Amino acid sequence: MRVLLIEDEPALGAAVEEHIRDAGHAVDRLMRLDDAEAALRAVEYGLVLLDLNLPDGSGIDLLKSMRRQGDTRPVIILTARDQIRDRITGLNAGADDYLVKPFDLDELAARVAAVARRSGGNPNTVIRLRDMEIDSTARVLRIDGKRTDLTAREWAILDELLRRPNAVVSKEKLEEALYSFDQEVESNTIEVHVSRLRKKLGKDAITTIRGIGYRLEGA
Ligand code: CA
Repeated sequence: MRVLLIEDEPALGAAVEEHIRDAGHAVDRLMRLDDAEAALRAVEYGLVLLDLNLPDGSGIDLLKSMRRQGDTRPVIILTARDQIRDRITGLNAGADDYLVKPFDLDELAARVAAVARRSGGNPNTVIRLRDMEIDSTARVLRIDGKRTDLTAREWAILDELLRRPNAVVSKEKLEEALYSFDQEVESNTIEVHVSRLRKKLGKDAITTIRGIGYRLEGA
């Protein structure tokens, strides 16, 4: 999933970015509301992590303007302990969740996974598909009851395909989920990851629709 992180505090921003990236997501980190607005127009983010006190205004205003325009992408607010009122305002303005600083990075990763799952229309933690049992939050995959390890990138691709089983997901969409603005995408990277994933999940698990994308086979 591609995540937009709007946080102007460099150390916290970098720590969050690294942690979310390690969990297999692509992260774009921005510090200003005007940059964030431009990014939201250009990129199909799966989730927005939003600090409230930003150099050019309040994150609440960005959230309100998103919701006013019918933008339903999930937003988690990152708020300071002494800003309880902001937290309430944030939830009223349409935030999906909030975290109080300083927060535990693993807690953040769990909330990110939960919001992503809900927005993907899949509220269950464990998804059963063919002979697979997939727990995206705990990052546990069992095939025929046997535990199989996936890399962070493989999880990111599987997560994206799982959002729409039996539907074709474009290669561009997978690239968008895996890479942020500042990362170069090698032309065959997705093919390489999908091919490794296929070796682990079974060769019929993912179908390549040439020139269009990939489909996770549900049955
Ligand atoms: Ca701030």
